[in-house]
Amino acid sequence: MSLNLEKTGEKVLPFDEKLLRDVTLEIPTPFYIYDEKAIRTMARRFAKAFDWAPRGFRNHFAVKACPNPYILEILGAEGMGADCSSMAELVLSEAVGIVGDRLFFSSNNTPIAEFEKAIELGGVINLDDITHLRDLKRIGMPDTLSFRYNPGPAKKGNAFIGKPEEAKYGLTREQMIEAYRMALEWGVKRFGIHTMVASNELDVDYFLETADMLFNLLYEVSEKSGVAIDFINFGGGIGIPYRPGDKTVNLEAISNGIKKLYTEYIVNSVLKPPIILFECGRVVTGPYGCLVTRAIHEKHIYKEYIGIDACMADLMRPGMYGAYHHITVLGKTEVHKNYDVVGSLCENNDKFAIDRSLPKIERGDILVIHDAGAHGRAMGFNYNGKLRPAELLLGQDGKVREIRRKENLKDYFATLTFPGL
Ligand SMILES: *Cc1c(COP(=O)(O)O)cnc(C)c1O
Repeated sequence: MSLNLEKTGEKVLPFDEKLLRDVTLEIPTPFYIYDEKAIRTMARRFAKAFDWAPRGFRNHFAVKACPNPYILEILGAEGMGADCSSMAELVLSEAVGIVGDRLFFSSNNTPIAEFEKAIELGGVINLDDITHLRDLKRIGMPDTLSFRYNPGPAKKGNAFIGKPEEAKYGLTREQMIEAYRMALEWGVKRFGIHTMVASNELDVDYFLETADMLFNLLYEVSEKSGVAIDFINFGGGIGIPYRPGDKTVNLEAISNGIKKLYTEYIVNSVLKPPIILFECGRVVTGPYGCLVTRAIHEKHIYKEYIGIDACMADLMRPGMYGAYHHITVLGKTEVHKNYDVVGSLCENNDKFAIDRSLPKIERGDILVIHDAGAHGRAMGFNYNGKLRPAELLLGQDGKVREIRRKENLKDYFATLTFPGL
């Protein structure tokens, strides 16, 4: 059998091995664990990279990436805002005191009640469509508005989000100009501009091309509609090195590139200098959380299978997108053979790894699935009656706390009206 060596390269376990092992003695697998210190360090690095911005910088953490209030609280304390796209996310942000300008509401196909909640919290609405302007007019125009741009064929998409002209998000260029004109006429006083055309993108140049495009549009919109753009929001989508050999995105290089564009487009013009915003989720918490699981079965048929106690309902990315998540078998390093690492759903794509070269795995071994701190627990579901896992936080004091318990059967049946359940 040939070993798939390109998939076994070095990737460092982001937690102390002994600590993880000790936790598994007290808390049953599977569970998620996040590292507070690493998340704070990341937040500070992000802010520092943009400390040149003359009117300020802020990342609004995309709540959907890790919707746990303890995590949001930490990020809020580090100066981040929140980027919400649903009622529940708005309520979570409210619960940790992220409101007003620090709360962005960047939704699509939006129920009116959610606009109302965002306005109640003093949040900034980032409109995904020009027709929503009429909805807002009915419920009361907010003072501040932002619009999301979809460049269509003017910009190549990336592999994750697809071609912009096939994407459901945002306004066309013509609509952007019309939208600012209408909003101005209907009493909006403060404006922002937004786009997001990539997801999990590792290429610095891609972000700089996008930034160039958005500065260019800011210029055109200002000229043609007469509004002054107060903030420019480059969206989320900064990727993380899931695979061994992937490089960490150089935030400082993105910042330097944007600084150059800022100087060209803004400083040397009559335009009002905008506040710089991002709404990244993945890069902020992704690498600093893991899903910790245990091998519970092995099966030898046409392929070699290792069954673990987590499944696609706990972490959907591999099954849904074929996404790579690195796996460390605690205490073992020597590659033994190729395995499919699988969950227990009645779905054949419930696989965390396919033909992955891993050490010899025995029942009871702890398997740590890397880079699950964003879009991990959050994308979990209950199919096949699977109960979603607990979330733990390794605090700055070195202590591990449960910040969400594992679901139980009572939770699962809670919405049924059948007597006796
Ligand atoms: C998902 C999303 C984000 C965050 O994306 P990341 O890949 O986690 O950085 C930001 N903004 C919007 C509008 C999104 O839909």
